Amino acid sequence: MNNKINTQNNGKQLQELTSLTKKDMPLKLNSLDNSKLILELKSLVSEERKLLSSVLDYLLEVQTRRLYLELGFPSLFEFCVKELQYSESAAQRRISAARLMKDIPEVKTKIEKGNLNLTTLSQAAMFIGQEKRVNQKSYNINQKRELLGKLENKSKSECEKELIKISPLATIPKERERLITEEKIEVRFVITKELKEKLERVKALISHKKVNPSYEELLSELAEIALNKLDKSVDRDKKGNKEMGIIKDEQVSNRKDQCQKALPPAEVKNPDAQQVGKESANSRYIPTTIKRQVWKRDQGKCQYVSDKNFNAGKHENSKNQKDNAIDSSAQKCNSTHFIQIDHIIPFSHGGSSTDINNLRLLCANHNRYRWEKRT
Ligand SMILES: [Zn+2]
Repeated sequence: MNNKINTQNNGKQLQELTSLTKKDMPLKLNSLDNSKLILELKSLVSEERKLLSSVLDYLLEVQTRRLYLELGFPSLFEFCVKELQYSESAAQRRISAARLMKDIPEVKTKIEKGNLNLTTLSQAAMFIGQEKRVNQKSYNINQKRELLGKLENKSKSECEKELIKISPLATIPKERERLITEEKIEVRFVITKELKEKLERVKALISHKKVNPSYEELLSELAEIALNKLDKSVDRDKKGNKEMGIIKDEQVSNRKDQCQKALPPAEVKNPDAQQVGKESANSRYIPTTIKRQVWKRDQGKCQYVSDKNFNAGKHENSKNQKDNAIDSSAQKCNSTHFIQIDHIIPFSHGGSSTDINNLRLLCANHNRYRWEKRT
């Protein structure tokens, strides 16, 4: 009953506030003379820049504490998009700017003064990344500072011209995706001559199925071939057809090899980790049949769930849920990248490698995070 009254009161207050805003705000702005309007606008923009530099500080602190992992996100980017509700590009610009600000502390003041903005910082970060990828050139702090100095107080196109002068190859446009319809996405990217030649060879090899395929048809064919080889969540027969059968040991081994780099040190150093399929109740080895069951049950996704108390208040109904159920306020990672099998109770603490209930899939970041928390 009390709740109902409160809701009504809140609704009334909101209504009053909304009507005040509608009536008064335009009137107030209308009554301002031109110089005052511009003065106040400049003051707001200045506040906005200060707020932005504070947001970047907070993001850096979240990154330092790696809170996004604890909250159930595989990366700071996912946290920015899904929890803070930034668009993908807005999230990426802020993360790039925050990382440059960490390297070069004076960037903070330059953002607040308007000498550098998110677009410029993001262009610089992308350029530095491309320099490393394309030209194998790594920028030290002084070189980054020098680069930013050249971009200060410049428009986006002026920055592009400046960056092309430094390295034309590193300014090749970034890959882009754009939604055309619900079912169609435009993807734009630049490829090397070498890759183009490889694609022409693939075209020739699949010409018995499709004569002169479009790039979409070619990619579709390549995706099928790759998924038949790599996707362990779907069982296939020897010809690669989907079936309710068995995943080849080779595929498990390949996945294991891919995951080795990301495994926690203790796992990597463990010579047993190189072997697959050795089955024993008293062994760290996870039998292949058990691995298949875990992959199938967890659908190839990271099962890390954030502590529900961390998000307390996000969903009020969660208070009534059972402790052992996944709370609606908790965040499940669900990443499908760099997936590894985790012992819930570590083998060194008596955890079983043959009991499916003691095993689950985690992404490499959450597996490492869990491992670090245990030690
Ligand atoms: Zn994860």
